[in-house]
Amino acid sequence: MAKQGDICSFCGRSREETDILIAGLHGNICGDCVEQAVMILKEERLLKSPSKIKHFKLLKPAEIKHHLDQYVIGQEDAKRILSVAVYNHYKRIADKEKSLNKKKQEIEIEKSNIIIVGETGTGKTLLARTIARMLDVPFAIADATILTEAGYVGEDVESILSRLLQASDYNVEAAEKGIVFIDEIDKIARKSDNPSITRDVSGEGVQQALLKLLEGSVVNVPPHGGRKHPEQKMIQINTENILFIAGGAFDGIEKIIASRMRANVIGYGSHKSKDTVDKSNMLQYIAPPDLKKYGLIPEIVGRLPVVTFLNPLDRQALKRILTEPKNALVKQFVKLFEMDGIKLSFTDGALDFVVEKSIDFKLGARGLRSILEAILNDAMFELPSDSTTKTLKVTRAYASEKLRKNNLAKLRVA
Ligand code: ADP
Repeated sequence: MAKQGDICSFCGRSREETDILIAGLHGNICGDCVEQAVMILKEERLLKSPSKIKHFKLLKPAEIKHHLDQYVIGQEDAKRILSVAVYNHYKRIADKEKSLNKKKQEIEIEKSNIIIVGETGTGKTLLARTIARMLDVPFAIADATILTEAGYVGEDVESILSRLLQASDYNVEAAEKGIVFIDEIDKIARKSDNPSITRDVSGEGVQQALLKLLEGSVVNVPPHGGRKHPEQKMIQINTENILFIAGGAFDGIEKIIASRMRANVIGYGSHKSKDTVDKSNMLQYIAPPDLKKYGLIPEIVGRLPVVTFLNPLDRQALKRILTEPKNALVKQFVKLFEMDGIKLSFTDGALDFVVEKSIDFKLGARGLRSILEAILNDAMFELPSDSTTKTLKVTRAYASEKLRKNNLAKLRVA
């Protein structure tokens, strides 16, 4: 048997079983135990750290919209609806904090989570992110497609909150006032409107689990995400004041909207005649029953009461996205070139060309950056070492030539 002086006083391993054994006055500690102790210390200190949360200024809806306008082009309806929803959400939190001091709260304002329906690349994530940045609250993006019901391969829904916790540097109080964007919520729709008796691992079960978070409850969260396991230490998070913004493309939902509207026109009580319906953009008429018909369970639809939509981006919107937002792509490249003392500019024709290619390749707003990168790559390689060139004017001909040379076909979506 190893002598008392030759074993770790914490785990009991002998000197031979560890790489290092540090001697103290009354005992020893091995390298592994030191490492583990450091981890415990870090977590405990973070959890107990004094609240870093700032009391943000409650901006009025018009101010919120004005802020969004600087970053998000178009999408007027969504911006107005989101501004009001965010304002009400944080007003509700303020009211709760105030009434904590009073004995009873007369009227409790319920939480209004939001759902945004719109094609991919139209600005759903951008809207959610811009709001979070404006309020300076923790923000996390979660993809609904990786979530599965407990017990199946994939991530538990609680892992969504792990991300929020990480975004807030493990400050629970800050995380509890954060914003979570759940992308691709349409991908966990159940396959048909009828509740199925067969198991639907990534559909209804996940929706049920998600419901718990949306409703507002105290949830045990694994600090580092992934799957929960019994020995893991959990952090409790109350989701009551977390604003959930869900987003999805809901491919094919236009047909559901159209059929509901047709039924309404035939029936009574409709205020919209067939002639006034804008068939080219049916998403603008989206309503909660359509989401239910698409496969979201009624309870989830009920917990996402603010429904809004995004318009597809047309040529004009894409061109504005290139140049207008505060951190527009063109402004970013101009700045990059400026750092090398080069004045970069684009002709109107060149900008039109970038937009046309993005539409051709079916890349939408997401394609603008890759196309610009491909066009400017040669210049970004050569000009920093060329002391004679001080300006670069990108014309349609220049853009077209560079894109052709840089194998534009690779940008095309299959
Ligand atoms: P979604 O979440 O709807 O799939 P994103 O918000 O991720 O789309 O947008 C993809 C890219 O396109 C982002 O880089 C974003 O900056 C840009 N973009 C999309 N829509 C807009 C818009 N309306 N205004 C400004 N930029 C936009």
